[in-house]
Amino acid sequence: MRKKIAILGSTGSIGRQALDVVRNHSTDFLVECITAQSNYKLLIEQAIEFKPNAVVIADDRFYEKVRNALDRLDIKVFAGDESVLQVLEMGSIDLVLIAIVGFAGLKPTLKAIECGKQIALANKETLVVAGEIVMEKAKINGVDILPVDSEHSAIFQCLVGETWNPIEKIYLTASGGPFRGWDVNQLKRVTPKEALAHPTWEMGKKITIDSATLMNKGLEVIEAKWLFDLDPEQIEVIIHPQSIIHSIVQFEDGSMKAQMGIPDMKLPIQYAFSYPFRIKSDYSRFQFENFPALTFEEPDLKKFRNLAFAFDALKKGGNIPCILNAANEVVVNAFLENKIGFFDMSDIIWDCMQIIPFILKPGLDDFFKTDFLTRERAVNLLNK
Ligand code: NDP
Ligand code: MG
Repeated sequence: MRKKIAILGSTGSIGRQALDVVRNHSTDFLVECITAQSNYKLLIEQAIEFKPNAVVIADDRFYEKVRNALDRLDIKVFAGDESVLQVLEMGSIDLVLIAIVGFAGLKPTLKAIECGKQIALANKETLVVAGEIVMEKAKINGVDILPVDSEHSAIFQCLVGETWNPIEKIYLTASGGPFRGWDVNQLKRVTPKEALAHPTWEMGKKITIDSATLMNKGLEVIEAKWLFDLDPEQIEVIIHPQSIIHSIVQFEDGSMKAQMGIPDMKLPIQYAFSYPFRIKSDYSRFQFENFPALTFEEPDLKKFRNLAFAFDALKKGGNIPCILNAANEVVVNAFLENKIGFFDMSDIIWDCMQIIPFILKPGLDDFFKTDFLTRERAVNLLNK
């Protein structure tokens, strides 16, 4: 029986690699549904190749184009944000890959949980904003949240067979991004083009900028807290420029388990799809002679303040991680549009974290309100 998969965000970096995984393992997996925001051309190509049961284009201006292109095929075509949620009710879907970027991933994740689907979660912002609610809901509904983020997949893999053994600590590894070791004057003048050139991973634009500012690692620290039920003191970040060790778990006896390999997101995607089994792949194998040294260093929290902010948000809790995330989404876009510089991003995020009203025990509605208020403030600051 092939596992039937819905891929939300099939036209993105993770989505395209997920389709690659299916293409290479067509006897194990079947694409049941794909969705995109506005890249209708690629969505149409993907639909023609994989012949899913349903296709959704979230931006409904492109509905006609998609429908007309697919009208001879037996594929249902829908449009609009609500349809992204509704397709998850399809009884035939076994697993949902959430590969949408940003806060927009939250509603589909909650809906997939309500529908009792197994979830492969790439979208870290969902757990950053509402980790407690999401994990609680998943538990109640008996739904597995299988991490796709490579560090979290690494930890998840290290924990197999360790059910009864508490974690002492985890080490999340980070490449350090393209600006590791740069001085303040260099960083002030960084351009979006330079920030988009990541040394070890090829990813969507938002996460690539997040990697350059170390916000990505900050979001991952919060993501790890919820996935593995950890206290802030149990999570450490270590810069490992070769990106071979994807993360490490340290147990109470001092023993450390690491998961390693050539960086390739297809591996964690495939593991989430095939879990608890491993299936054969021909992805690049590690060659010892190519890596005479694996090195480690401390992150520089003075230059890369976003990582410090994320630890701060994690400790304060409540709606602060939601504020951090919303402000970050706004400033990353502004940086990509050349409206602000590298350090302005951190300044605006920090301002929002101080000014937006704190809520200690936010409900879901509070998160939507916080997200809205934060974006409004961040945009105002941009325009000043
Ligand atoms: P991309 O920007 O490449 O892709 C995002 C996908 O989501 C696209 O298919 C896009 O459609 C769709 N989308 C965007 N906004 C919306 C919306 N509002 N509603 C519905 N669909 C939407 O991102 P990535 O693939 O790089 O990242 C996806 C998620 O995975 C992020 O949360 C990221 O942090 C996480 N992740 C990514 C990794 C990577 O290697 N890329 C590694 C680890 C985690 P369209 O193409 O039409 O715009
Ligand atoms: Mg990661």
